[in-house]
Amino acid sequence: MIMQGKRGLVMGVANKFSIAYGIASSLRAQGADLVFTAQSDRFKDKIADIAAEFGEHEVVLCDVSKDDEVPSAFEKIAKDVGTLDFIVHSIAFSDKNELVGKYCNTSRANFLNAMNISCYSFTEVCRHAPNIMPNGGGIVTMTYYGAEKVVPNYNVMALAKSALETSVRYLASDLGEFGIRVNAISAGPIKTLAASGVGEFSKILDFERRRSPLGRNVTQQDIGDTCSFLVSDLSSGITGEIVHVDCGCSTVGVKF
Ligand code: NAP
Repeated sequence: MIMQGKRGLVMGVANKFSIAYGIASSLRAQGADLVFTAQSDRFKDKIADIAAEFGEHEVVLCDVSKDDEVPSAFEKIAKDVGTLDFIVHSIAFSDKNELVGKYCNTSRANFLNAMNISCYSFTEVCRHAPNIMPNGGGIVTMTYYGAEKVVPNYNVMALAKSALETSVRYLASDLGEFGIRVNAISAGPIKTLAASGVGEFSKILDFERRRSPLGRNVTQQDIGDTCSFLVSDLSSGITGEIVHVDCGCSTVGVKF
């Protein structure tokens, strides 16, 4: 129960297959109290049902692409629930028509939108975090190996993840004085709604499973448990890191 007595926000639960759902499950199992966000009214009831599974009822609206929604959501949480000890940002978006074929065909509009939702939103979350985390704590975002090496069809999302990973280092530097640690998990591929938008995703899953030293793909629990560690006091000396939770795939160059 490493999260007993801690309260935190989980952003990015779409359904039970979401990485954020696995993270919420682990955090809850470790004793954390949770607050969730929903992108719009349309999804709020669905997410409220999921939140209720964790014994929580607080779901706050937050479309990260809109100006002021992040600070407004934090103000509402502070008023209704109180301060937070951790935040999990598990949010990304690209037009799926551009997650297939060549990266060079990316449109300016989708490049900017993908960067805005998948990368800038994390900067905004971190900018406002000290207000709602007066006692310090941990913030974690989600990235992928496509930021480091070419993965077919990952395209603009790879650029957004590279920028996100660099943001993690700058944000860790900015927030250190508040006792807030900022890290990312580089998760191996896992079949979710967002991942299904990446062309030939099942081939990526298969390749990674064959390449992995552990001979398998990652699970929601693998990622969730690492996230619990990274937002807990057990990782008190870790900040600005990209932690690979990929069954070792990123460590393997060639495998016969
Ligand atoms: P997911 O279940 O589809 O979650 C993506 C979440 O992003 C959804 O909850 C979605 O909300 C939210 N979102 C998109 N635009 C938003 C906006 N404008 N405002 C607020 N929320 C918004 O997929 P996932 O795979 O778990 O993705 C979670 C994170 O893990 C992403 O950063 C992804 O890049 C990363 N990741 C995934 C994999 C993988 O293989 N699955 C691997 C490494 C990293 P709605 O459903 O309401 O649109």
